[in-house]
Amino acid sequence: MRHKVFQSHDSNVSKFVFEKDAKEGMKAIAVEAVLYRYPTYKERTVICCSVQSGCPIGCVFCGTGKFFQRNLTADEIVHQVTTVLDHIDCEPREIKKFQIMFMSMGEPFCNYENTEKAIRTLHQIYPNAQLLVSTSAPSIKFRDSFDQFVKLSKEIKNVGLQFSVHESSDPARCRLIPTQTMSVSSIGGFGHKWAKETGRRPFFNYCVHKLNSSPNNVEELLKYFNPDVWEVTLSVICEKDQSMKAAIEKQLDLIKSFSKLMVDAGYSIRVFNPAGQDDIGGGCGQLWYFQEWLKSNKTKDHEG
Ligand code: SF4
Repeated sequence: MRHKVFQSHDSNVSKFVFEKDAKEGMKAIAVEAVLYRYPTYKERTVICCSVQSGCPIGCVFCGTGKFFQRNLTADEIVHQVTTVLDHIDCEPREIKKFQIMFMSMGEPFCNYENTEKAIRTLHQIYPNAQLLVSTSAPSIKFRDSFDQFVKLSKEIKNVGLQFSVHESSDPARCRLIPTQTMSVSSIGGFGHKWAKETGRRPFFNYCVHKLNSSPNNVEELLKYFNPDVWEVTLSVICEKDQSMKAAIEKQLDLIKSFSKLMVDAGYSIRVFNPAGQDDIGGGCGQLWYFQEWLKSNKTKDHEG
């Protein structure tokens, strides 16, 4: 795959765009991976890579534009990580905190076999890397592969699990994630099961906005997500034409007051840190390169 690199103004975040032409019956693809350093690569390196080109889930805030090209092969997933790591200034084995996250473009459980294969390969190459799978929990696909994922997580202790929950009730979550996904209560159940089997804590990600940040929302979350079991990541919804930094600044007071409610309820929380990604569109809702690529690719398809 050929690639281009876009760097944030402070060079803490680099976005890699990979492209491949159609060949041997496989559709052309564009995918994105993002590399972060906090504050040096040696201290902490985070990579978000894609598992699909486009995404069939269609979250309303997401820059994939509700288009799906195809699943990536395991080699295409691994290739993003090895290419990105060619650009850091230390040996990957020297990184103190090293995280590879399957959460850029695509839903891992909609391409489970290839994602698992890539995880196994990456673990062999980078045994010091944590490997975090982030899922919206699409109903059938997640259930079908959950037992296999538990087996993998028991075998490779570096594998982690995060659910994109985002809302405390099913109707609100369905408005944000229109594809059929598991209910909030089922996600709670699967997370508890994974924690029991692996002895590790799952995460859930919650996008704070003014309609889902009241004490009632915390009460609803407490019904399904035991603070002794779960870790929480809070973030904000980043509109397609808005930078992550601007989105967080706009809603800082809201995040602060909701964080307090969550901490008072016993949750261990972290707030998503956009680092310097705002000027390169590194956030999940901002996959602008893919949107542009899709437009020109569709034009070519049409012309052809
Ligand atoms: S946010 Fe993630 S799961 Fe939702 S459409 Fe975008 S890539 Fe897919």
